[in-house]
Amino acid sequence: MEQVPAIFGDVAALALGACVGSFAVTVAYRLPRDISIATPRSFCESCERPVPWWANIPIFAYLASRGRCLMCGAPISARHLGGELALALAALYLYANFPLGDAIARFVFITALFISSLVDYDWRLIPNLITFPGVPVGFVLAAMFMPEVGWKNSLIGITLGGGVLFLTGFLYQMVRGQEGVGLGDVFLLAMVGAFIGWQGVLFTLFFGALLGSVGGLAVGLFGTPRDAPELPPSMREAAGAPAPAASSVAGAQAGAATAVAQTDAAAAFSIDPQAPDSAAAESEEHTLLATAVPFGPFLSAAAGFYTLFQPQLTSWYLSR
Ligand SMILES: [Zn+2]
Repeated sequence: MEQVPAIFGDVAALALGACVGSFAVTVAYRLPRDISIATPRSFCESCERPVPWWANIPIFAYLASRGRCLMCGAPISARHLGGELALALAALYLYANFPLGDAIARFVFITALFISSLVDYDWRLIPNLITFPGVPVGFVLAAMFMPEVGWKNSLIGITLGGGVLFLTGFLYQMVRGQEGVGLGDVFLLAMVGAFIGWQGVLFTLFFGALLGSVGGLAVGLFGTPRDAPELPPSMREAAGAPAPAASSVAGAQAGAATAVAQTDAAAAFSIDPQAPDSAAAESEEHTLLATAVPFGPFLSAAAGFYTLFQPQLTSWYLSR
């Protein structure tokens, strides 16, 4: 009889994780497009018709429909299934290995990392709407529920994460004259510090850079870097400017610069007051690009790994 409640908890963690995964993929789709999270309810991204209620059931709906919209037949992004599976497994693992409050705090962080990564991958921008609140929320959760982090490490982590990456970006900008680190990465790393402390920041910086180098190398060798994505609709609207693809390059450049000034999300380091008009195309490119290869997902992967396996990593490190 004692087995029943334990299994019930595992199943609940799996189901909850899958639902949050489904929600996270939706948020990552809607946030940059300025679509409300609450309404409209789920719709097909191709034909935009609302999906039947059961098509919202995580994992099973994707498998039952074989990854296609039942109305128009368009393929549904596999990231729905991937996100639901990944966060379901993360929730189960955390539930099984941490006290409940600690597990929930870590799961909140991993969800924030996941959403940030998807948006960064799509748009090369890290959403401030996630990372800004992530800093105070992370601090409170670390102080209350994460004894292995605690408020002191969290506070030092915020300072270290935000400060180190800001300095790195600043120096890179000074030396190379181009942007190496987007401000979005700075806020992301401040959130990392808030949730997993300065030790987590060091781990994330080291392994994130390692993963990023390997990833950048792989893109250079096997892939073609994608063209600069357009500004997300939410930022275009905020800037009151036409889409970057509009005929007037200068207009797009001005719009992009305004967007940067207004959101601080893109490439604040790339604003060069000395030469506002000299190379419009180049400037546009550098203003719209956060970095050639989005760095955020690699940082997030490293931070997520640390969040899941902090006890093992700590004991391994201390045993050296
Ligand atoms: Zn459809």
